[in-house]
Amino acid sequence: MNVHHAPLAHAHALDARLLIGALIVLGACAPVDAAELEDPEAQPQAAALSTIDCSERSDFGYRSGTPFDIRVVTVDGRPVELETANAYYVMALAAERDGVELAIVSGFRTMGEQEYFYDCFVTCSCNDCNRAARPGYSNHQSGHALDLNTRAPGVLDWLNAHGADYGFARTVPSEVWHWEWWGGGPGGGPCGGCIPSCDGSVIVGRDCGRGDCAAFGSRCVNDGLGVRCAFAFCPDRGTDTFCVDDRVIGTCSDGAVSTGDCSAFGSRCVDDARGARCAFFACPDTGETTVCLDESRIGTCRDGAISSGDCAAFGSRCVADGAGARCAFYACPDSGETTVCLDERTIGTCRDGAISTGDCGAFGAYCSTAGSGVARCVSSFCAASAAAVPVERDTCLPDGRIVRCTSDGALLEPRDCPSGTACFLAEPNARCGSALDGPPEPDGTDPNAPSADMGSPDGGAGRGAGPSSDAGCGCRAGGSERTGGPLAPALLGAVGLCVLRLRRRRAARRSATAPRQDASASPARGSPPHCDPSSPLAN
Ligand SMILES: [Zn+2]
Repeated sequence: MNVHHAPLAHAHALDARLLIGALIVLGACAPVDAAELEDPEAQPQAAALSTIDCSERSDFGYRSGTPFDIRVVTVDGRPVELETANAYYVMALAAERDGVELAIVSGFRTMGEQEYFYDCFVTCSCNDCNRAARPGYSNHQSGHALDLNTRAPGVLDWLNAHGADYGFARTVPSEVWHWEWWGGGPGGGPCGGCIPSCDGSVIVGRDCGRGDCAAFGSRCVNDGLGVRCAFAFCPDRGTDTFCVDDRVIGTCSDGAVSTGDCSAFGSRCVDDARGARCAFFACPDTGETTVCLDESRIGTCRDGAISSGDCAAFGSRCVADGAGARCAFYACPDSGETTVCLDERTIGTCRDGAISTGDCGAFGAYCSTAGSGVARCVSSFCAASAAAVPVERDTCLPDGRIVRCTSDGALLEPRDCPSGTACFLAEPNARCGSALDGPPEPDGTDPNAPSADMGSPDGGAGRGAGPSSDAGCGCRAGGSERTGGPLAPALLGAVGLCVLRLRRRRAARRSATAPRQDASASPARGSPPHCDPSSPLAN
């Protein structure tokens, strides 16, 4: 006799997981086509702790009317099929830890016992007329059914909450005490032919089956995780990776190994201080870098692993050179620093293919390459369109001041015309002159004249060279450039220009009424002469 009283340290030691042969499959679930015999009145109350006697005897079990050899042990004084007994005992220990005492009321039944209960049911002459399955068809005869002490305090609630964790299920709706086990649960239990163990490289299972771990390149390990084969290149516990060869990677988990094919993903297996891993063919083993995967896709390598992005989604291409792989904007060269016009008002600055943009239009300018081939912002006071080549010359601002355009189309510091004069457009340079007298002759005495040879006094010829047809009379933004950068012109905002115009109109009115001034020399409406479209001098 081998009687244990729970809890038992010995039972825990036997609760070992086996890699080989621990599970006995007892067959498909047989349907319950009739109620099992039950007598809930017979249930013991406040049963003693579960006891188990692993001494085995053989008997005839029945499944669907067919007999088979069955191994029976004793639990709580009742005969129970061996594997069902193990599963039940593990569950009973768990229930005890929760303060609930399970007990078996009825376990395995012989054919004679089932015939008796069935006869009671048919004749209603014994066993309180309780229903019973036909002899040979009860799962008490197949060894899977147990009637439990569900009337005892807490037992049914505990079974409903935890029974499934141990592989037990209720199968007869009208009989809360009838529970069946068909496999499942954590395994373990004290009964069986052998204690799982290692015999050298040979693993011995609960069913006494033996297998040589060495035949699979493994060793037998028996520790707190149970008895199992551990692969030669794997540690007993934990996870690890290793290269089987330059294509295949092995992954260890508590000694068990699984393999994967790096080459299926265009990768190779590398193993170094960072551990074994798949490294993409286009990536170095270690470090972080970028690579072009094709003309549009860029990949970022990190210790061999790759993530990719699409340059084309940003209007770019992937380029790779000594500076590394990167996305280069379609309008930019692969390398170096330059400027490009993206449209008539947007200028881009390229740095090794990357672009940043600015808005020439916000400064009253065009983005232009005309004349120089170099993209820059050209003031609309210096060129009539983005295609027009800017010329170094003087021109008039809407506020009446005169300003010099550089050959790059930038505006230098504007200058006031002398009192009593206004700016007139002329070829090749605008100049300051009197409305009455017309533009002064280029005698070199005009302090505002940029040069002595200002050309013809015919102001009309200069009109077409103005920044735009309405540049003289509309309030608009102008710009001047002092620092030479493509986006650094000092702003003369439209509001500021209009304020300046109003000041000059008032100044013109005052001078028109001044006694020392010839009234007829100023425009009747006080407007700057260049701003009066009817002025013959602006014509
Ligand atoms: Zn039953």
